[in-house]
Amino acid sequence: MSKLKSHAATLDSGHMYALSICLIGMSLFSYTNRFEFIHYETSTWVWIYAMTGACLILNFFMIQLPPEGNELSMDSSVYLACIFTFGTSFALTVLLMNCLFFSIIDRKTSWWKHLTNFSIYCIMIAATSALFQYLGGSPGALVNTQLFMYLTVLTVYFAANTLLVGLYYYILYRGTLFETIKDIIKDSVFVFLCTLALSLVLTVLVYHNQILGLMLFMCLAVLLSQSFKKLFAMYRSIEDRANTDQRTGLYNHSYFEEVLEQEIQKSRSSGAPLSLAMIDLDDFKKYNDHFGHLQGDKLISFVGEMLKTESQKSGTVAARYGGEEFTLLMPGYDSLQARDYIDQLRKKLNNSSFHGVEIFPLGCLAFSAGIAACSLDIHDKSQLVDQADQALYYSKRQGKNTVHTYGMHSPLEQELDFSQDVRDIEQQLNLFMYKDMETFRHSKRVFRYAMDISELLDIDPISKRNFTLGALIHDIGKLEIPWNILNKKDKLAPEEWEMVKWHVTWGKKMALTNDKFKELAPYIELHHERYDGKGYPYGFKGEEIPRLCRMLTIIDSFDAMTTERPYQPTKSFEEAIIELRACAGSQFDPELTEFFIEYIETREHRTGDTAV
Ligand code: GH3
Ligand code: MG
Ligand code: MG
Repeated sequence: MSKLKSHAATLDSGHMYALSICLIGMSLFSYTNRFEFIHYETSTWVWIYAMTGACLILNFFMIQLPPEGNELSMDSSVYLACIFTFGTSFALTVLLMNCLFFSIIDRKTSWWKHLTNFSIYCIMIAATSALFQYLGGSPGALVNTQLFMYLTVLTVYFAANTLLVGLYYYILYRGTLFETIKDIIKDSVFVFLCTLALSLVLTVLVYHNQILGLMLFMCLAVLLSQSFKKLFAMYRSIEDRANTDQRTGLYNHSYFEEVLEQEIQKSRSSGAPLSLAMIDLDDFKKYNDHFGHLQGDKLISFVGEMLKTESQKSGTVAARYGGEEFTLLMPGYDSLQARDYIDQLRKKLNNSSFHGVEIFPLGCLAFSAGIAACSLDIHDKSQLVDQADQALYYSKRQGKNTVHTYGMHSPLEQELDFSQDVRDIEQQLNLFMYKDMETFRHSKRVFRYAMDISELLDIDPISKRNFTLGALIHDIGKLEIPWNILNKKDKLAPEEWEMVKWHVTWGKKMALTNDKFKELAPYIELHHERYDGKGYPYGFKGEEIPRLCRMLTIIDSFDAMTTERPYQPTKSFEEAIIELRACAGSQFDPELTEFFIEYIETREHRTGDTAV
């Protein structure tokens, strides 16, 4: 059954709770036991010692349960058997003896915790005994026809335990009471069932075979505990193997993905920085070709070991991503700290001696690395990996043995890449010229709005590139919609609407086929999400939708309102602004809506421009 464990942090309310439990428990003990043990005969004392011994042994042979290895004692089956066979006063005396012995053996636990545990057990035993008597039970042999009564009594024992211990942890940690109790039940329901069966078995054995019965029971219980220990050790080793890369001892790819997901969630909820580094050994093929794969494997193990040692020291998580590529997940590191740290590792590797390093171009071991920092705009773990990968690719292009942070390319270089990308996307958009001229023109207009807005927003060059290209390409998935639906003059039928909605998913898939446009995928996929979570395809809400995607939704809708569409009347700019405001907070991000309106109004005022 669940017990209180030692905790460094104890609160006053925790002490108050413990004090109340102690008062209730000890009153119940005095009232129910009435110190009858003073008058016990020697034969009764023999049984008390035997049962106390059994409890003590069971406290050492606990049941260890996966996944956390929580240890649960089966001593409750002895107390219950005592109630069923010898009565309440006897059971409480065994409890008293057991707690006295235990407080002598276990000096690490404070005396008040021992006392509280004793009191909790007193309450459980007294409540259970009272119910047992109330339901017509009397100490002695197990009565076949009263099995339901035993079950009810055991359930009350279990419920009292869960409630008393659950309340304690609730007061101590202030989680939700329901969640705390749910966790305890989840952890101990199996042990409850074991206790239930074992207490009845012990009752039968003790009644019919006395001490021999008790010994048989203990053998079974100890063997059961040992089996669970072995099972748990096996579980741990299988789990370790499943998460570890056998060559390097680092975590493997799939475990890395798991941790990445968890760390992104943590970073989002706590606001703490998180950075990821992708590391790729330089010119490893050369080493492999020169010394053979086996020696190459040794080099991979060597680097893996170094990363493992270093990551353990720094509280980071190193994994083998595949081949000679590694990842380092750095919770608490912003991009600058991450860069410095990885650069330090790079220098350390440069200075490490290893067989045959002279064949490398620099005459030493080296790696290139790419860093990406988690931001609110990261809505999927693969985005962060992608960004780190791009930064790594950039490092390689800079001549290797360097660390580069995503988003830190020089603006000039960015501009050069950018115009080529625009041309590439425009080529694809040309397909709309024969299929749906309106989408073609719309894409171009949205692109122009996005260009203007990106100048006004305080964003880095890469975000600017992605935002504007994302705006240009956002409707690319419409190429998959049949011509007759795309150009239908009447209102669309519900199933046709469903098909139109698919364009975001089709478009994303199209973008993912080209490495250069991978990062535009969120703009394509999420531009129909709504701020209130009622959009599609995911129903993301508020900041779950990356900020610039929220901005694209506003631009996209504004353009849709102000230009002719087959299924919508046209609005003037003023009317569209009123509509934007009306939908701010539901469809659109209110802050960004105001930002966009200010831009439109300034532009109108300045140029008298209208959308074309
Ligand atoms: P770069 O500097 O651009 O990274 O060049 P590189 O030579 O390191 O080449 P690249 O990263 O593209 O390829 C790495 C090679 O590593 C390809 C493969 O033959 C080899 N490799 C991948 N996994 C293992 C492995 O487990 N053991 C060994 N010995 N070689 C591997
Ligand atoms: Mg590689
Ligand atoms: Mg390499």
